[in-house]
Amino acid sequence: MRIIPIPIFEHNYSYLIIDNKANEAAAVDPAEPQKVLAVLAQTGAKLTSILTTHHHQRHSSGNVELVSERPTLAVYGHDARIPELNYVCKHNEEFTVGTLRIRSLHTPSHTKGSVCYYVRDVNEMNEEIERAVFTGDTLQNGGCGKFIEGDAKDMYNVLYNILGQLPKDTKVYGGHECMLTNLQFANTIDTNNYFIQEKLKLSQSKNCNVPSTIEEELKYNPYLRLSEPSIQNALGKSNPHEAIHVLRELNDNFIGKNIEIDGLNGLLEMNYGMNNRRERRSKELEPSSVP
Ligand SMILES: [Zn+2]
Repeated sequence: MRIIPIPIFEHNYSYLIIDNKANEAAAVDPAEPQKVLAVLAQTGAKLTSILTTHHHQRHSSGNVELVSERPTLAVYGHDARIPELNYVCKHNEEFTVGTLRIRSLHTPSHTKGSVCYYVRDVNEMNEEIERAVFTGDTLQNGGCGKFIEGDAKDMYNVLYNILGQLPKDTKVYGGHECMLTNLQFANTIDTNNYFIQEKLKLSQSKNCNVPSTIEEELKYNPYLRLSEPSIQNALGKSNPHEAIHVLRELNDNFIGKNIEIDGLNGLLEMNYGMNNRRERRSKELEPSSVP
């Protein structure tokens, strides 16, 4: 399979997932549909599905325009608030896009209807050769989304009993470019973590920090490392539900510096001729602008 991250708005990502064998594609959260269609046109693949991670506008609002242009699209999701939803996928339900196997994982906490899509590519022998998960605002690269419609216990369950259990080589594609801010925060909690410090250095020199892998997230994402005594000490909590609650509160009040993904827009311009570039600049993030 081929996965193309498409930067939209200030720091969101849409994705095209293309099955090379069937030349069929799915779009994840195509909230600026014309950008996604411009990239799609150059791949020659046929778009058959929209995978919506949750109902928030910057993830689902493009469904209206896309479905009005292409009325036969299957629109997957798990929340009646998603525009044009025509297939409500249940937890652990399997479906296909071309020959790609997709499993919807119901992961409520950021919103009640949040879904992550676990995608697997197989070879002629029916062996899995590549795995990826599209996590919206639930598991973020290096962090996680706010618990808006759920609580700390819900997010703990999602991260430890669902997403953290995926095979370690699964690539993680979050809904935003926020690795740098997330790791700056992680570095204030998990202060002697070599993997955070190394990844921070790398992230500062890169415009696009997706994907990571589950294995990498387990090394540097504090939300997945709550059994570490050093993190429990930093948070003053050993009960995991209390610890993740405190971690989220500290995260909500953390002001990091992020780089807008304009450099990535430059890559799109180079690869796909899209004129989408703005000046790269460092930006102070308000706590409220972090997903
Ligand atoms: Zn959201």
